[in-house]
Amino acid sequence: MIVKKAYGMAKQMNIPVLGIVENYSYVKCPDCGKELKVFGESHIEEIAAELGVPVLGKMPIDPAIAEAVEEERFYEMENPYLKDVEL
Ligand SMILES: [Zn+2]
Repeated sequence: MIVKKAYGMAKQMNIPVLGIVENYSYVKCPDCGKELKVFGESHIEEIAAELGVPVLGKMPIDPAIAEAVEEERFYEMENPYLKDVEL
């Protein structure tokens, strides 16, 4: 619902929506690499299809990202979780 609301708001303000990035999508187990869906199953693909925009990526809860944000280096870091898309 929040995604649809944000999409609607962007549209109202004539801001083009290029796609959706799902935040806090999962946590990767440091021991076995398994992806744990702490907030339940994702429905982002259905929502994206409904809105007619692509899913650009799914961001896990990653301490390295949190650290980069804290140190204001977020824009410098490589983000392996976002797909390469032609925009
Ligand atoms: Zn594990």
